[in-house]
Order: sequence, then C-alpha cells, then structure tokens
Amino acid sequence: MSYTALYRKYRPQNFTDVKGQDAIVATIRNQIQAERIAHAYLFCGTRGTGKTTIAKIFAKAVNCEHPVEGSPCGTCASCQAIAAGTSMNVIEIDAASNNGVDNIREIRDEVTYAPTEGRYKVYIIDEVHMLSIGAFNALLKTLEEPPSYVIFILATTESHKIPVTILSRCQRYDFHRISVDTISTRLMELLEYEQAEADEKAVRYIAKAADGAMRDALSLLDQCMAFYMDRRLTYDHVLEVLGAVDTERFSALFRAVIGNEVVTVMRQIENLVGEGRDLSQFVNDFTWYLRNLLLLQSSEHMEDVLDISSENLSLLKEECKMADSTELMRFIRIFSELSGQVRYSAQKRILIEIAFIKLCRPQMEEDLGSILARIDRLEKRMEEGVIQPAAAGLAHSNNNNETIQRTETEKIALPKAISEDMRQIAGNWRSIVSQMPGSLSVFMKKAHISVGDHDELLIVLDDAIIYGMLAEEERKLEIVKSISNIVGKEVEIQIRCNDSGQTSERAYVDLEQMIHADIEYEDFPDSV
Ligand SMILES: [Zn+2]
Repeated sequence: MSYTALYRKYRPQNFTDVKGQDAIVATIRNQIQAERIAHAYLFCGTRGTGKTTIAKIFAKAVNCEHPVEGSPCGTCASCQAIAAGTSMNVIEIDAASNNGVDNIREIRDEVTYAPTEGRYKVYIIDEVHMLSIGAFNALLKTLEEPPSYVIFILATTESHKIPVTILSRCQRYDFHRISVDTISTRLMELLEYEQAEADEKAVRYIAKAADGAMRDALSLLDQCMAFYMDRRLTYDHVLEVLGAVDTERFSALFRAVIGNEVVTVMRQIENLVGEGRDLSQFVNDFTWYLRNLLLLQSSEHMEDVLDISSENLSLLKEECKMADSTELMRFIRIFSELSGQVRYSAQKRILIEIAFIKLCRPQMEEDLGSILARIDRLEKRMEEGVIQPAAAGLAHSNNNNETIQRTETEKIALPKAISEDMRQIAGNWRSIVSQMPGSLSVFMKKAHISVGDHDELLIVLDDAIIYGMLAEEERKLEIVKSISNIVGKEVEIQIRCNDSGQTSERAYVDLEQMIHADIEYEDFPDSV
C-alpha cells in the first residue's frame, strides 16, 4: 500500500474540518447560504494557512447539489468530480509557472462559455502576485465584466505586489497564522485516527515549530512519525528529529549569562555544535525563550499567552526576576539581529559566540541600552559590597593593597637572553594571530606576549573573561598549532591573566614591543 502524506490524507473536505480560520469560513458560508456570492475573491496570507484548501471547498460548495449549511455534501456527482479533479468547473492555475499574457488570454476566451453542468466555473489562481504586468491587465478586463457564472479566487502570499486596480475589484480575506493551540488540537486528533501515541509536549513543540502553518505542522509530524515508527512520540524524539534544543538548556544558558560565566556559555555552545543541533533554529528558539521571560515579567497573567508546559513555567518565573526589562530587551535586540545574520552565514557558531559575549559584556557595545545595563550592574555590585565607593577611605586602601600584592606575585622576570624561537615568534606575531581560526583570532588580538622562566611563550590577557576562554586545553592546542604553522616549530605556551590592568607597572614585559623597539636584550634589567 502506498503511503499518503498526512497533509494530503487529512486535507479538509468541508468547512467544518477547516481549523483556525473561523471568521473567514463563517463569512463565506453565510454568503453561499444567502446566495450573495461575489465574482472575485482575494485570499492573502502566509503559506500553509489554508488559502487553497478553502478555495477548493468553496468551489465544491457553490456547485454542490445538496449543500449543508453552505458546506458541500461531499457525496453528490459534482462534489465527487471536483474531489477527483475531473470536474470542468474548477480550474486551478499556478501563476508561478503560467504568468504570461497568453495564459490569462486563454482564460478570457474560456470564460465566455457557460458551464455545461453545475452552476459556477471557479478559477483558482495561486501565487497570483507572480503574474506579469501584461497578464494582470488581461485579467483586469475579465474582472471588470465577469459573466454571472464565473468566480475568481486569487491566492497570494504577497498582496503588496498586486496592482490596486485588481485589489479594488476583489473581496479581500486575510488569512492569519493558526495558533499553537489550534494546531496541537488538530494534530492530537489526527494521531488518534492514525492510532499513534505521542506526548502532548511533543505535539506542542511541533505546533510551535510550524509557525502558524497547518501544512508545515503536518509535514513535521510526518517526519517525526517516520523516524520513530510504531513507537510513542516523545518530546526528546521530536527535538532530535527537528535538530532542536531542550528548553532546560535555555535556562542553563540564561543563568550562565546572568552570572557572567562566559566559559560555561561557550562550553554549552560547543556541546550544541557537537550534537549537530540546527543553529539557526536554536537562535530562533532562544529569542522565543527571552520573549517569554519578558512577557512573564510584564504581567502575572501572561501564562495563557506563553506556549510552555507548567514545569517550565516555574523555572521561567524564577528566571524572569534575574534580569530587568531593559536588559531583557537588549538581549532580544541582539538575538533578533543575530537571527537575520545567522540564516545565510557559513560562520554560524562564531556569530552565536560573539552574540553571547555581547550579552555577558555590555561594555563591548556602546549604545544607550548597553550603557544602562552597565550602570545597573555596577549599582548591583555596589549594593553587594563588591565595589566600594572611593569616599570609603579605609576599604579603598585595603583593596589597593590586595592589587599591589597580586601584581608583585605575577611579576615576570625576563631571562637575560631571549632565544631565537621567541624572537621569531615575536617578529611574526601579527601574522600568526591573523591566520588563527575565527573567534580565536579576534580574542588573541587582545593578548600581549612575553617570555616565561623556562623560555616558554607567555600569553598575557588583561581580560578575565577572554582569559577563561583561551585557557581551555583545546584552545591552547589551536594556538600552538597556529604558531608552528608560521615558525615551523611547536613551542610551549602558558596563558596568564593580568586583570590588574598594570601594564605600565610592568607586571610582564611585552616581548613584541621590545623586539620591535630593537632594544639590546642582554642589557634589559632582570626584574622590572
Ligand atoms: Zn455535493
């Protein structure tokens, strides 16, 4: 037995089966019952929202021998001929492939003949915005004086591309996206017909991923069911098939961002990449998650608007208190920009990493939102006593002592003679860094180099967060490899953090600066 795709198998055959376009269906049924049918209709809306489905039911209903409350009976000769695609009364045209003047002229010639059986000839022109200007003009002539037995239904996803002269002659219906609730209910119904089992959470995720298009939802469900044939469809199965990410991951990521734990965030991204998750989908889902936080923060009664399970709701409620609305809006803005960039980019991972660093570090941005976020964080740290205002004399001097002590322990003695290897590295440092892969190159541009006690290359970073990212073993190996690519030798490296910012006090000696300044190395003092 051949397999029929769910969306074909369960395509609605009468108005009662149509889900999610109640207002449009009610209006059209009333018109049919009252026999006040217009000659031209324009169905606008995104793909998969039921435009052609309703157009076909409409065509059946106006020709049906025994319509039931404006809906086709489905059993009379006309209904069956239309369902089988053999009726001469319903003419479907795809304007994407028949967009010329001649195609429309053919229609003009045809409409002069009244239907031999049935009452109406219905022309359904899909993707009507694709017609050429000449074709639109030809169509306009027919729309100006249509024979009484002709109905045109024009369907389009882009109504702004349709000439005003055509628009003004049509009754317009805007098909909106179908709600997650409506789609989930329909999917549950079909699963019952198919005698398949699925978790509600799984079905809801599919409904959400379909983004308002019933046809997409059915295709996604098909895909998941084919993958887990004869087994109960769980949330995890769906995530796996669609390459999506679990909401708990979003929680963990968000908490890490709020806690400024860049290393944790980078590791999470690493895991997502390793598991082969769809990164564009991830960006969209994370934006959605942030939007939920913002909604929940703005009102207690938003729970109905959020498409999440009750277990996740309590997590969300906790999380929405961790950031204020200004900060959340900044996050959403960064991620909305990202979702536009990431779609066509080959460097998805790097773009995502940079976006997350922006979330953690408002100081990397310079617009008003990020400056507010910085002030906010400072205020919080002051309240917590992490930073003391300058006026508090004693506390301040204590702080200062600490800094000095730390700087002293981190002071690095420069060996008397600098090996040829180190000179070579210092001399080529710029080109070594520029050929490092992706984000590594960006971060390494912030590094200074020096020489350690055992003639190892010392890489010094002023920024604790960037330090945390580079200090990982994997990154270290990448750095060693990049150096050996240029100088032809693997050298030992050590990565250090100098977050005291005491470069002028010489916590270390900048090797690169020194080499370029052409100073006599042997004369350089031992300890600076
Ligand atoms: Zn019928």
